Amino acid sequence: MPPVEVVFSWPNSIDEIPQALWTLRHQIKLYVLIKYFSANDKVWGSFFLVRDLFIIYFIYSKLFEILTTIWGYGLFGSINKLYRSISSYISPKILSLPFIKSKIAKELNNTITKIEKEIIKNSDDLKQFKELPTNGLSADVVESELIKLQNLKHSDWNNGRVSGAVYHGGNELLKLQSEAYNQYSVANQLHPDVFPGVRKMEAEVVAMVLDIFNAPKTGCGSTTSGGTESLLLTGLAAREFGRRVKGITKPEVIAPITIHAGIEKACYYFGMKLHKVNVDPKTYKVDIKKVKRLINSNTVLLCGSAPNYPHGIIDDIEELSKLAVKYNIPLHVDACLGSFIVSFLESSKVHGDRKLPLFDFRLPGVTSISCDTHKYGFAPKGSSIIMYRSPELRKYQYYISSDWTGGMYGSPTLAGSRPGALMVGCWATLVNIGKDGYRESCYSIVSATMQLKKEIEKNPILSKYLEVIGDPLGSVIAFKVKSSQQKNLSIYELSDLLSKKGWHFATLQNPAALHFALTRLTVPVLDELIADLVSSTEEAIELTHKHGSKTGDTAAMYGIAGSIHTAGIADRVIVAFLDTLYKT
Ligand SMILES: *Cc1c(COP(=O)(O)O)cnc(C)c1O
Repeated sequence: MPPVEVVFSWPNSIDEIPQALWTLRHQIKLYVLIKYFSANDKVWGSFFLVRDLFIIYFIYSKLFEILTTIWGYGLFGSINKLYRSISSYISPKILSLPFIKSKIAKELNNTITKIEKEIIKNSDDLKQFKELPTNGLSADVVESELIKLQNLKHSDWNNGRVSGAVYHGGNELLKLQSEAYNQYSVANQLHPDVFPGVRKMEAEVVAMVLDIFNAPKTGCGSTTSGGTESLLLTGLAAREFGRRVKGITKPEVIAPITIHAGIEKACYYFGMKLHKVNVDPKTYKVDIKKVKRLINSNTVLLCGSAPNYPHGIIDDIEELSKLAVKYNIPLHVDACLGSFIVSFLESSKVHGDRKLPLFDFRLPGVTSISCDTHKYGFAPKGSSIIMYRSPELRKYQYYISSDWTGGMYGSPTLAGSRPGALMVGCWATLVNIGKDGYRESCYSIVSATMQLKKEIEKNPILSKYLEVIGDPLGSVIAFKVKSSQQKNLSIYELSDLLSKKGWHFATLQNPAALHFALTRLTVPVLDELIADLVSSTEEAIELTHKHGSKTGDTAAMYGIAGSIHTAGIADRVIVAFLDTLYKT
C-alpha cells in the first residue's frame, strides 16, 4: 500500500465551505482505507475499521448539518432557528405547570365553544342520525331532507361575496356537470377495461392542460383529487428520484414561505426536511440568493408558485429555473391557483403589451407543474392535474407491486379506486368552455382585480391606510395596513366588519393582511365590493380608535400570534376545530 498524501485545507471564506466539506469526505475515506490496510491484525483491524466508520459517519453528518445550516441561514438566522426550536420544546413544559395549565384550559374551552357555535349548525326540523336508521328512508324523504340541509344558515356564495370557493357558478355549466355525473356515477378509473371512455377522457384532460402550460412533446401527467394531492405526488416523485438516481437518503426541499401548505404536508408525509425561504420585502417574491445558499447535496426539490395563495404573487420562476439547471435539481411550479388564469394571461392580453414573466415548461429548469382544474378551470371540486416534463420523473410517483397476492398491481396516484364521474365532469367542462371561453374569463376576472388594485392605490381613504402587497398580475389581491397606520386601523377588525356585510376575505398572518380571490361571480359586484371596502375601512378606523388594535374575534385568533405559536396553543385550537368537523 503506497503512502497517500492527505491534503485538507481549511476554507478561507464562507464560499469555500461546500468544497471543503466535499474534500473532507474524500480525506476520511482515504484515512480509513490506509488505516485498514496498514493494520497487522486483520481481525482487530476490521473491528477498528467498523468502529471508526461509525464515529466518523456520526461526526461527519452532524458537521454537515451544522455547517449547511449556518451556511444556508447565516449565523443570526441559525441562532434564531436554534432559539425557536428550544423555546417550542420548553414552552409546552412551562405551560403544563398545574396553575398555568388550568388557566389555559379555560381559555381554550371558551375558544372551542365559540368555534363549535360557529361551525355546528343544526335545526329542530332535521332528522338526526347517530346510527343507521333501522328501516331505510324512501328516496322522497331523503330528497326533502337534502333540501332542508341545504337551507341551514350559511355564507352565500351565489352573490360573489366569497373569496375563491366557487369559481364559475353559472347554471348552464352546473347543469352540464350534473349531467356528466349522472351518466358516469359508477365509473372508476381503476378499471380502464370496464370504462374505456373514461380512460380516453382522462388522457385528453391531461393533454389539454399540458398544452396550455407549453409542455414539450415528452410532457405527461395524471389527474388527481385536488391541488394537495398534486403537491404530495410531486414531493414523492422528487424524493424517490433523489433516492434512486442520486442516492440521497436525507432529502431536503426548498420553498418560499408563501408556498401552499400542501408542500409542508408532502414533507411531513414523506419524511423530508423543508427549508422555508423568506420573500423579498419589496416584491414579495422568493429571495433567490437565499434559495441558492440552501442548496446542498441533499436537495431533492425546489419550489415556486405561479402565483402563491397568500398574496397572488408569481415567484421569479426564471431565476429558480436557472438554479435548477445549474445544480440539476427538479423544480416544481405550483400553478394550482393560477390554473386557467395564469396560463391565459399572455394570450388574453389583459395586461396589454406589458412583458409578462415566464413560469411554465418553456423554462428548461421547470420539471413539474400542478394546476387545479377545480379552481379557474371551473371543473367540479375534486380535480387537479400534476404535470411532468417527462415520464422519467412521473414514474416515481407510481406505486407498483408486482408480487401482491391480489394480482399484479399498479396505481398512478394516491387513491386506489377513483371517482371517474368527477373526471368526466372535468372533461365536459374543459371542452365546453374551450380556449376562447377561458381567455374571456381570464380577461374579465383579471381586469376586475386590476381595477380593485387601482382603487386601493388611488381612493383617498383606502390609499391612506392600506397597501397592496407586491405587484399581483392575476386574480388574487392581498393588502395590509401601512406600517405608519398600524395603530389607527386593525386589519382583522376590518375583516370582521366586511364579514358582517357578507364579504368573506381570507385572513393572512406574518404580515397580518387580507386577500380576495376574484371569481366570475365577483366581476358583476365589483362596485359593491369597493364601496363596502371603503365604508368598512372607515368604520374599522373608528372601532380601532375606540377599542385598540387587538380586539375582535379574528384578532383574538391571531392577536398574540408569536407566543401562542411557540407555546403550541395555536396548534391546539386547530386540532379542536378539526375535531368539531366530526361532532354529530
Ligand atoms: C388551492 C391551492 C392549492 C391546493 O389546494 P387544494 O385545496 O388541495 O386544491 C395549492 N396551491 C395553491 C397556491 C392554492 O391556492
